[in-house]
Amino acid sequence: MSLHLSSPVTSIPGIGALAAKDLRNLGIVSVRDLVLYLPYRYEDYSVVRPIGSLRHDDTVTVTGRVRQIESRASKNRKVTLTEAIVENETGEIKVTWFNQPYLEKTLRAGFRISVAGRVDSRFGGVRTIVSPVWEPAGDRVHTGRIVPVYGLTGTLTMRRLRGAIEHALTVAAELVDFLPAEIRDEESFPARDVAIRNVHFPESRAELDAAISRLKFDELLIHQLMFAQVRKERAVRPATSVATDAEFLKSFVQSLPFPLTQAQRRSAWEIVQDCALERPMNRLLEGDVGSGKTAVAAIAIAGVLRANHAAAYLAPTEILASQQHAALGRFFSLDDSVGLVGLLTASQAKIGGESVTRKELFAAVADGRLRCLVGTHALLQQGIEIPGLALVVVDEQHRFGVQQRKALLDRLPAPHLLSMTATPIPRSLALTIYGDLDLSILDEMPKGRKPVATKLVFDKERAAMWTQIVAEIALGRQAFVVCPLIDPSDALGAKSVTEVAAMLQRALPRTVRVGILHGKLPSDEKAAMIAAFRDRAVDLLVSTTVVEVGVDIPNATMMVIVGAERFGLSQLHQLRGRVGRSDIASTCYLAPDGWSPDAKERLTAMTRTTNGFELAEIDLKLRGAGNVFGSAQSGFPDFKLATPADVPLMKKTRDVASRILAADPELEGHPLLREFVTVSLDEVHLE
Ligand code: ADP
Ligand code: MG
Repeated sequence: MSLHLSSPVTSIPGIGALAAKDLRNLGIVSVRDLVLYLPYRYEDYSVVRPIGSLRHDDTVTVTGRVRQIESRASKNRKVTLTEAIVENETGEIKVTWFNQPYLEKTLRAGFRISVAGRVDSRFGGVRTIVSPVWEPAGDRVHTGRIVPVYGLTGTLTMRRLRGAIEHALTVAAELVDFLPAEIRDEESFPARDVAIRNVHFPESRAELDAAISRLKFDELLIHQLMFAQVRKERAVRPATSVATDAEFLKSFVQSLPFPLTQAQRRSAWEIVQDCALERPMNRLLEGDVGSGKTAVAAIAIAGVLRANHAAAYLAPTEILASQQHAALGRFFSLDDSVGLVGLLTASQAKIGGESVTRKELFAAVADGRLRCLVGTHALLQQGIEIPGLALVVVDEQHRFGVQQRKALLDRLPAPHLLSMTATPIPRSLALTIYGDLDLSILDEMPKGRKPVATKLVFDKERAAMWTQIVAEIALGRQAFVVCPLIDPSDALGAKSVTEVAAMLQRALPRTVRVGILHGKLPSDEKAAMIAAFRDRAVDLLVSTTVVEVGVDIPNATMMVIVGAERFGLSQLHQLRGRVGRSDIASTCYLAPDGWSPDAKERLTAMTRTTNGFELAEIDLKLRGAGNVFGSAQSGFPDFKLATPADVPLMKKTRDVASRILAADPELEGHPLLREFVTVSLDEVHLE
């Protein structure tokens, strides 16, 4: 059977049902998906050196013959060590693998092998390569080159995935090249199939750079064309003009439990004015964590409801949706003319505080009894029709792709769109990424906020930290303890929620009530735990980063981040934003498990500043732009390769897109490009 891009992954030698299942978890079903699954980094094993010349810390590939190989248990009997001597004319070197005793069978004495890795001579002065990748001498998939490193899942190994992708690339020539030839020539880009091949297995840095430039360009161009299309469709649509009832808005604002900041006042007014127009609003509300975006959105929504139209509020996670549902409910309950707020997520349906069936919720929306709906992606997926929908609010908008936003906006008259983000994106960048939009910025924190004191806590100081936390809890305060993992895992050596919670339950006084929260809990348990914490039935909440986005519990004034060195700066900043949400002084303890120069710089930056813009810039410098948007999966869904650092390229693709569309508005002369844009638009990416 011949192999094609459309073949299932199981057509690749070595990929059976089990591996196929793991691959499916990575979104890989076909050979095409394999080919388009890009490395997230590379190991440079292209330096091939004689064994005799190797020094400590060299990263190299060496080729030789296995002289001897044998396995034994380590001193503490926890792992099996397989040790071999590899030699050639120039010398010999030791190599060591952990827990791979079967290698003894594969790599018998005399086997000609290439191994790649880092040379370490700290083990009694014997030059050793620990856990090297290897392959038969002469092969060049895992050694002797710049080697791709991919994200893995389940029992899938790097070796197997890399081998499968290398095999899949034999049919890369089937990839269509949708880029018009004149643009390809102008930019001196490689063909698309060549770029794809080279992004996996480049022969040189230069080849890799060229491949990445080409693929980023493709990605950004398609994105710009999609945006242009959505924008064009939206711009010609009429929007509902929401009549401004200034008296009502004034009294609504007065009913809020706090005076608005100037920045909130200004932003809310900008939004209300936009909603009064007959063309659809397209506005981004930017404000650091805790700057009070929800209240601003609530004012706009209240205005819409008052004028007898409907509004939807989209949140990226179930926890955040429940919380925003509760917050809007509280704000609106102060003025009974506004009405009830509904909630729709994958597992919950509510009208006001009452749980209802999905059917009851849909019915209430259909007959106009319920005109304000908060929800997650479920709102998009369940095809709910909201009569009179005049305003869509998208919270943490970078967590939704263009397609998802389009799904909710694709109706007549066009709803006004308010996007919100806590990611500090400079104005020019926002305009480039998101196209023609208006910007409102909350550059002022509510009065009385004390900056969160941030402390680095090393092992010796941990006991004192817990004593302090217990004392504060006795005074009625609460604490978050954030861990990198849910369950213990030897492999990563990172602390888990279950371990830390068990440890704290043993070590802390009985009076401290410990709760657990993580993403694998059923959503009603998650909601119940958040509610218990909010109601102060739990003093100390041990959780994963599910508390990251927007969780608002003003009485929680302490946060411990365990394994803090494992988090990016932007994520640490987001996490820290969970405390310091009232006028009570708050503390964030960063408790690293390990220490590297990069970790040191990140964590000390956290102790130095609480300014999100500043931290984003440091993150950009230290770890590349992808991290400004958090983790890859949830950060920047429209792009696989492009990052905010690619602003110049974004500008260029924007110009190219408008040039193409000016000459050929419907892309009739560019059928391949048109197909690609349409497919991308219709392809609904879900969480
Ligand atoms: P974010 O911008 O991170 O979404 P929130 O909207 O969740 O911030 O607001 C954070 C907290 O600040 C909430 O408890 C909210 O009620 C409170 N808050 C909002 N605006 C003000 C204000 N002007 N004065 C005092 N507290 C405020
Ligand atoms: Mg928020």
